[in-house]
Amino acid sequence: MQMRTAVLSSLIGWMSAWPVLALEPVPVSDGIYAFVGEKEQRSPGNLANNATFGLIVTGEGAVLIDPGGSWKGAEALHADVRKVTDQPVRYVINTGGQDHRWLGNGYWRKLGATIIASSAAVADQKERASLQLTMLSQFVGSDGLSGTEPEFADVTFDTDHELEIGGTRIEIHFAAAAHTPGDAFVWVPSKSTVFTGDIVYTERLLGVLPFSKSKAWLMAFEAVAALNPEHVVPGHGAPTTLSRAKADTFDYLVNLRARMAEHIETGGDMIGSPKVDQSAFKHLEEFEALAGRNAQAVFAEMEFE
Ligand SMILES: [Zn+2]
Repeated sequence: MQMRTAVLSSLIGWMSAWPVLALEPVPVSDGIYAFVGEKEQRSPGNLANNATFGLIVTGEGAVLIDPGGSWKGAEALHADVRKVTDQPVRYVINTGGQDHRWLGNGYWRKLGATIIASSAAVADQKERASLQLTMLSQFVGSDGLSGTEPEFADVTFDTDHELEIGGTRIEIHFAAAAHTPGDAFVWVPSKSTVFTGDIVYTERLLGVLPFSKSKAWLMAFEAVAALNPEHVVPGHGAPTTLSRAKADTFDYLVNLRARMAEHIETGGDMIGSPKVDQSAFKHLEEFEALAGRNAQAVFAEMEFE
């Protein structure tokens, strides 16, 4: 009987523990952490937390960079946050309009956090909320998605926003559209650390989607680079250096745009566009899945430039 109970409880423990993928805090600089989510597609196991999140801890509360991609994803991220601090999360910054940048907002609002986003990001979130929820119900499932409602920022800004908490100054800047129309980055000058959201992808290939703007994306990256940060917390991938961020994001976009310009100049069409040479980046994860699609999106954009 005792054994049966033990088996049962371990089975129940396994069942309830299994779906939530815990993210381990990665120290970046003093009081700053990254939570590096999976680089693959959204799934019931990652609850749409397939991205990198950031945390700034001060003596007067914490600031979370991106809330998680669902209510349950936010709850799981909160368990990860508790591994490094008991401070309440006072602010949640949405760095953009992708699901993992904002669909966990409701969870944090209920705990009393103030949510901050660029006005361009909020407009994008409003426009794509229903599409994102439909997409997530397929990838994450209705159980994983339960409790998730679109909730939007309390504080919005057009280009720049600043806050101070526990003596730490935090700047948020929107420079240009990138992966999504409202992608902003978060800069902590005293720690020489920038959280880039979807402006920077490392280790895996970035995605150029129909609403992405590859030309403006280069400008957004340049605004990040102008800070000359010592630490870069990308939107996807582990904390890294500016040179690695440049190699995996900026250089990829520059190459794709240059090859596409040649392709268009020589009379190439949309159907032939996936054949442009991106082989210098084939070491990046998800290359096979995304390279051709990225080429088509950049073709569609550059055709009218
Ligand atoms: Zn993303």
